[in-house]
Amino acid sequence: MNLIRDDILSYREMCDAENVQTLQRGMNFRLNPKYSVILMSQRTNAPYKDKIYSDGITIEYEGHDVSKRSYDHFPKLEDQPEKLPSGKLTQNGLFIKSVIDFKNNDKGPEIIKVYEKIMPGVWSLKGFFDLIDYKILHDGERNVYRFILRLKNNVDFETNYQIIELQHNRIIPSEVKKEVWKRDGGKCVICKETKNLHFDHELPFSKGGTSLTAKNVRLLCMKHNLQKSAKIE
Ligand SMILES: [Zn+2]
Repeated sequence: MNLIRDDILSYREMCDAENVQTLQRGMNFRLNPKYSVILMSQRTNAPYKDKIYSDGITIEYEGHDVSKRSYDHFPKLEDQPEKLPSGKLTQNGLFIKSVIDFKNNDKGPEIIKVYEKIMPGVWSLKGFFDLIDYKILHDGERNVYRFILRLKNNVDFETNYQIIELQHNRIIPSEVKKEVWKRDGGKCVICKETKNLHFDHELPFSKGGTSLTAKNVRLLCMKHNLQKSAKIE
């Protein structure tokens, strides 16, 4: 399956795209030999939403809590762990290590493929990102990790190909996607198709369009999305 940024897919299609039976965890270090996978999912009332920097191409992603071992155990009150009690690195730890390796050696940044949950059963590819940094913040209760991801300029894998001109692109916030999905009823706005949908910028960013409100974003099926790209070129 050739996915491009802002494509919409079911949970099953997402698992198939990654060649796995299920995707349970939010952070999946090196799920693929070439990249890691992050699932962003916004709970209602989430205290923290994916934060997009004003450059429009950088996001901050919160690390993972300690796993819930018993009912009298409160992961939200404990520091996010870098290691398990055994000393083995957690997913946080693996991501941190790749940042440190990136900064110390001449190793390239870890490539992160990010999917976001729009609604139950409705996912969207947020894009491929470079994991460029992390920080530790105190959220009032405990220490949490924030990973800094920057949209990749150019992705050229065997199965996934996309060229992004960064200055002409901006990340569409998950909140906006959610609003657009609801407004357009999960259908292409032109032909009402419900499969192979894509979040489309009606007026491209390069022509003054914005990704920051639902007004300029709509659902298009693959056919109508391709027709539109052909017209612009
Ligand atoms: Zn259509």
